[in-house]
Amino acid sequence: MSEQRLQEAIGTLKESGVRITPQRHAVLEFLLNSMTHPTADEIYKALESKFPNMSVATVYNNLRVLREIGLVRELTYGDSSSRFDCSTTEHYHIICDVCGKIVDFHYPSLDEVESLAEQVTGFDVSYHRLEIYGTCEKCKALATQKH
Ligand SMILES: [Zn+2]
Ligand SMILES: [Zn+2]
Repeated sequence: MSEQRLQEAIGTLKESGVRITPQRHAVLEFLLNSMTHPTADEIYKALESKFPNMSVATVYNNLRVLREIGLVRELTYGDSSSRFDCSTTEHYHIICDVCGKIVDFHYPSLDEVESLAEQVTGFDVSYHRLEIYGTCEKCKALATQKH
């Protein structure tokens, strides 16, 4: 699905003068193909058979590089480990309370909230964050099975 996005991302890497190592390429490709906002650990587990010499630290390091040039967003929710998102277009997240899965959804950007907050408080708003929490379909199904 994402061959074109991969080529675009590689173009961005080249423009930023970042070296494209096979591991970096693999991390990027995995993120582009995954809709699940994986943790560094999950990326590591998915790629370790392909790169037996790669460590979790290498994965982190590659993710940091990709984040610095704006190809990847790091998501921190609560105190669970960071998850990584390759979609840098505006979208919101809904998060499963049970398994921690994050799903994208699109909704018109809530710009009015920002201007209202500015008017009411006198702040200059830089950004806002909105998360919705609930139970995902899979966890709902599991819960019904148990009863
Ligand atoms: Zn769930
Ligand atoms: Zn997302």
